[in-house]
Amino acid sequence: MKQIVVISGKGGTGKTVITASLAALAQNKVMVDCDVDAADLHLLLQPKIKERHEFWSGKTAFIDSQLCQKCGRCVPACRFQAIADSYVVDPIACEGCGLCSNLCPYDAIQMKENLAGEWLVSDTRYGSLVHAKLGIAEENSGKLVAKVRQVARDIAKRDKLDHVIIDGPPGIGCPVIASLSGVDCALIVTEPTLSGLHDAQRVLEVADHFKVPIKFVINKYDLNLEVTSQIEDFCQSKGIPVIGKIAFDRRIVESMVAGKTIVEWETGPIREELVSIWKKLQTA
Ligand code: SF4
Ligand code: SF4
Repeated sequence: MKQIVVISGKGGTGKTVITASLAALAQNKVMVDCDVDAADLHLLLQPKIKERHEFWSGKTAFIDSQLCQKCGRCVPACRFQAIADSYVVDPIACEGCGLCSNLCPYDAIQMKENLAGEWLVSDTRYGSLVHAKLGIAEENSGKLVAKVRQVARDIAKRDKLDHVIIDGPPGIGCPVIASLSGVDCALIVTEPTLSGLHDAQRVLEVADHFKVPIKFVINKYDLNLEVTSQIEDFCQSKGIPVIGKIAFDRRIVESMVAGKTIVEWETGPIREELVSIWKKLQTA
């Protein structure tokens, strides 16, 4: 079983369009949407939810007013100012450090687990999709990404699937690191703008740190041939293969509006390029 993650370093590069197209081309795979803050792979894959599970993570202090003797020790002890003078914890401000619970002489403060979000397994026209939704103001996106990846691996092993195709989150933070760990290949999607190149370089450093084999795709490459050439030179200097260049084409937007992947929508050069990218990825 081979795990391939598609990342970009920033949003808006066409990463999800490319991931969905690879998912459409691949046989025998499970898909994972690791963008747990703002998932969008489902917009193209239109999943039918099969399983829905709660995701519990992190802890918040809770003061039992029956046990609290109003001694006042906990209020100044909390360096996050999460405990009001009325001895009520603000769950948004509480960082779950547990200090107040340890110092309360009357055992009035309990640490309770948070319902931090949910993860789902769905059927799509291309096979199973594992996806998730982090709760509002929750911060355990890295752990939720690790969870959906583990569920996808279990499905792949159970069903003897060849590939796990992962739509990575934007940025270079904790959820990206959780998306990259242990994969067989990271496909970095970039666009020919200086900010696109800069963001791709940042995410490349993260992938490099984890010793993940990397390949590049330049999306909308014909919008700025000069920067495209700079990206190619950069990749060559680092020994990173550019395995595809996709031209700007309004049919990609049309296919998205129709809720289809571009490989379902057209049979021309973009589809051919994506087929070629998929073939090259399999040799990773
Ligand atoms: S330390 Fe315990 S008893 Fe004292 S005010 Fe806080 S919760 Fe109440
Ligand atoms: S657990 Fe830590 S952050 Fe939360 S209220 Fe207690 S001392 Fe403050």
